[in-house]
Amino acid sequence: MSASDTPARKLRPATRLVHGGAMRSQFGETSEAMFLTQGFVYDSAEAAEARFKNLEPGFVYSRFSNPTVAMFEERMALLEGAEAARATASGMAAVTAAMMSLLRAGDHAVAARALFGSCLYIMEEWLPRFGVETTLVDGTDLDAWRAAMRPNTKVCLIESPTNPQLEILDIAAIAEITHRAGAKLVVDNVFATPLLQQPFDLGADLVVYSTTKHIDGQGRCLGGCILASKEIIDGSVHNVLRQTGPSLSPFNAWVMLKGLETLPLRVGQQNANAARVADALAALPGVARVLYPFRDDHPQAALARRQMSGGGTVVALELAGGKAAAFRFANALQVVKISNNLGDAKSLVTHPATTTHQRLTPEARAKMGISEGLLRLSVGLEDADDLIEDVTIAAKAARG
Ligand SMILES: *Cc1c(COP(=O)(O)O)cnc(C)c1O
Repeated sequence: MSASDTPARKLRPATRLVHGGAMRSQFGETSEAMFLTQGFVYDSAEAAEARFKNLEPGFVYSRFSNPTVAMFEERMALLEGAEAARATASGMAAVTAAMMSLLRAGDHAVAARALFGSCLYIMEEWLPRFGVETTLVDGTDLDAWRAAMRPNTKVCLIESPTNPQLEILDIAAIAEITHRAGAKLVVDNVFATPLLQQPFDLGADLVVYSTTKHIDGQGRCLGGCILASKEIIDGSVHNVLRQTGPSLSPFNAWVMLKGLETLPLRVGQQNANAARVADALAALPGVARVLYPFRDDHPQAALARRQMSGGGTVVALELAGGKAAAFRFANALQVVKISNNLGDAKSLVTHPATTTHQRLTPEARAKMGISEGLLRLSVGLEDADDLIEDVTIAAKAARG
């Protein structure tokens, strides 16, 4: 393998996403090679010893290092401007490993209540099982964050925009409160994508992704990534991943690596489509409310414009007629498919109250603003005019 032949000068993001991290084998392939191998052969027993003792660079075992996965990790780190990155088998593996690497029994962690369903489970059910106390707060209430900090608080976890109601959390302000308490801030940046929001610039210590979403972008593979300083990644994160093994398959890493090459084109177009669909939805009778971070009627539009460079690819809408109207709307869509994924080239609609958030009690859902009439629309790469026609027909059907 030879290292990247790209120039040493600082390249712009789109260029880094095409060339960053590329390593070529002796065959000089143009496209990054897929190394479907579990292990690696050493020239001698001495070489194996040196490799294991970390005295010479090289790969040892694909549970914790593989050339294709390494290329993906390097491209992610360049994209995010992070010192280092580690890939994982899924987004949840990234969130869980990040938390495990920072916490031990007796510690305390705080998160905004508006979390992706499984992240909420990790906070509420799973970490307490291992002796970590957790507190959930209203993420938009900075006084609640301040009040939640304890001497043993080690980690704060947030998502912004949140799922599914697209609330915007003030990342810089929460980072400051977190750091004053001597804790580390983990930002799950899936909804914003790495292109529309840079959490490290706002004070995050770790950034995690489900690369299943926009980074694959075509609904094929699961994957995840943790980004942070070299000290955190090569230390506790590497140790958790190496010993517990939620490794990204080289095949999935290869798909994600190629996905990164087209990420700016896809996210740019999906963001533009989402903004148009949001405006069209807001004008339709029967649609009580549209939530989209860059619309002026979003409660935190000013904050969204301060910390994001686009409103994102997801729109939330509230139908006046509750669950029955939401189901009629979803069932009448022809181009948009009913699915719980997001960030796909295909537009997808979800009814959170009966799917992703069905596990919660009605009171818990109400507290998170997830009503029976709420739908989450992940906007894809179709022609925006076809999507607008589709939601217009669906809104008519929803009115019964
Ligand atoms: C999808 C998602 C996850 C989990 O990712 P998987 O790849 O499905 O494990 C975590 N956080 C957010 C915000 C997500 O959208």
